[in-house]
Amino acid sequence: MGLKPEQRDEIVSQRSETRPTRRATVPALENILYEERQVLDHGFIRVVDYMGDDAAIVQAARVSYGRGTRKVSEDQGLINYLMRHRHTTPFEMCEIKYHVKLPIFVARQWIRHRTANVNEYSARYSILENEFYLPTPEHLAAQTTTNGQGRGEVLDPATAERVLDLLRDHAERAYHGYTELLNEGQTETRRGPGPGLARELARMNLSLNFYTQWYWKIDLHNLLHFLSLRIDSHAQYEIRAYAKAMLDTLALWVPMTYTAFLEYRMHAAVISAKGLGVIRRLLADEHVDQASSGLSAREWHELMAILGR
Ligand SMILES: Cc1cc2nc3c(=O)[nH]c(=O)nc-3n(C[C@H](O)[C@H](O)[C@H](O)COP(=O)(O)OP(=O)(O)OC[C@H]3O[C@@H](n4cnc5c(N)ncnc54)[C@H](O)[C@@H]3O)c2cc1C
Repeated sequence: MGLKPEQRDEIVSQRSETRPTRRATVPALENILYEERQVLDHGFIRVVDYMGDDAAIVQAARVSYGRGTRKVSEDQGLINYLMRHRHTTPFEMCEIKYHVKLPIFVARQWIRHRTANVNEYSARYSILENEFYLPTPEHLAAQTTTNGQGRGEVLDPATAERVLDLLRDHAERAYHGYTELLNEGQTETRRGPGPGLARELARMNLSLNFYTQWYWKIDLHNLLHFLSLRIDSHAQYEIRAYAKAMLDTLALWVPMTYTAFLEYRMHAAVISAKGLGVIRRLLADEHVDQASSGLSAREWHELMAILGR
């Protein structure tokens, strides 16, 4: 687990403090505020702050003076309409801040999302912990043979064990070298006087599965964009695990937006003009196959998967 006892104590202490406020708060999110939720073997996400709620979206859309909310069904209807028609700016009125602990290779994918504010743990200033990610055997799979990127068949148990031994051994040696280069910290792994290399250089010895941490703040519109890309089955399992944990916080924070997101984004589909043509022909009981559809083999396969055929 990714937290030390003193870090847990800090969270308990912070959770014991409450403040009166005139600002909107969301009891379900307050319930889990600051608490970490484990992701992968040593990682976590935790919500450390937020601004706004579903009503703030409605309020902004209506440019109201007060809370701007009406009946629940009307507010849900408005949020659905905004989501359906990509009227996105009302969602930008809400913000959320996460503390995330994640492997460096996941961070490299995550940081491509440029619309967040990020502050990462400094490995120039501080020493990284001896914590590295090892997949569970069911997530150790061979390279896919179908789409060039991603995983195919899960490895058999003996191969998985060998892979895990290699990964573990490499990471342990890398960390050992790191502490030797630094010549500080982790005294049990020190072998006499080391070079005392600067932290900003010693970190070069670590592999991509070591954990880093950051504070990550984003508005709700851009969070939905992040989630739609990173929950998708085309995204790598490890980043999907984080996106899934964040989706759960979305459900607590803005339940109406969550409902609309599932309906109009996550479980919805984008269909091309040719794809629509295929659907119209199928509805008219015409025979259509890939050759006569005008779609490539991959597009045809994707459309059939959407249609459950
Ligand atoms: C399954 C998957 C596979 C991927 N594979 C690769 C890969 O092989 N190689 C690779 O390099 N990347 C890859 N990526 C990363 C991908 O190309 C995007 O960089 C990443 O998903 C961030 O998306 P974004 O730019 O829409 O998000 P954000 O940076 O969060 O931006 C959100 C939106 O803001 C707008 N925006 C932000 N900045 C600008 C800007 N400077 N100019 C114009 N508009 C802007 C755009 O509309 C953008 O969609 C992959 C992503 C996924 C999900």
